[in-house]
Amino acid sequence: RPVLDVRDLTKVYGEGETAVRALDGVSLRADRGDYVAVMGPSGSGKSTLLNILGCLDAPTSGTYLLDGVDVGRLGDSQLALVRNRLIGFVFQAFNLIPRTSAVANVELPLTYCGMRAAERRRRAMFALDVVGLANRADHEPNRLSGGQQQRVAIARALVTEPALLLADEPTGNLDSHATEEVLSVFDDLHAVGRTIVLITHEADVGARADRLIRLLDGRIVADVRQHRLGRHA
Ligand code: ADP
Ligand code: ADP
Repeated sequence: RPVLDVRDLTKVYGEGETAVRALDGVSLRADRGDYVAVMGPSGSGKSTLLNILGCLDAPTSGTYLLDGVDVGRLGDSQLALVRNRLIGFVFQAFNLIPRTSAVANVELPLTYCGMRAAERRRRAMFALDVVGLANRADHEPNRLSGGQQQRVAIARALVTEPALLLADEPTGNLDSHATEEVLSVFDDLHAVGRTIVLITHEADVGARADRLIRLLDGRIVADVRQHRLGRHA
């Protein structure tokens, strides 16, 4: 079954004369292992779509199945569980906790899983290893470069083994060197079959995904497979 199965989503903000149709009949399916970039001009509906995919906001109409779960039928506590277990979020601003070691940051999503401390630590170290930062486990965020901080944030997103990695402008705060550092982590995750959806303004970032979706005025106007465009050999 698909990881993402979105049908005919609409999102209307406000009502009457001033209503804004931020999404207008968006349907989208992504299978396990897909690496999808969503691009579109400002106001095209990217954040609205991301918020719905992340179960942070509800659509006005349409259905959303995440890993087979009909999100629209869930109550708040179940939605919180879905966000914690099925989705790994990566943000533009990293959102790491200051004065807290990298490994403790990565462990955080496991805190409410009823898991023993030693097991949390083991999993967090594994996730840090995946992003190539096991040797920085005891570093606090302010001792890490921007690219390293974002890699820690990616490890935190992965530590629960989510069905979907959802990234909102993950390279928006990074210079080109750090951007490459982060994109090569996404390449590695894609290579091991992770499902990734990322939103970006940057064409060269979008080009690295294996599928590029373009939004315009709340509609999908293009959805193309890219054959390892721009991916380093
Ligand atoms: P993007 O992320 O592509 O810039 P958004 O999803 O933020 O697009 O916005 C899509 C449309 O919805 C825009 O016209 C925006 O002004 C409008 N919009 C977004 N959020 C709200 C809101 N909370 N209330 C009213 N209009 C909104
Ligand atoms: P409000 O409009 O009151 O700010 P939201 O739009 O954020 O609230 O969400 C309202 C409720 O819709 C949430 O508390 C939750 O129960 C539910 N919800 C959240 N995300 C989704 C979704 N993707 N699909 C269906 N229902 C959702």
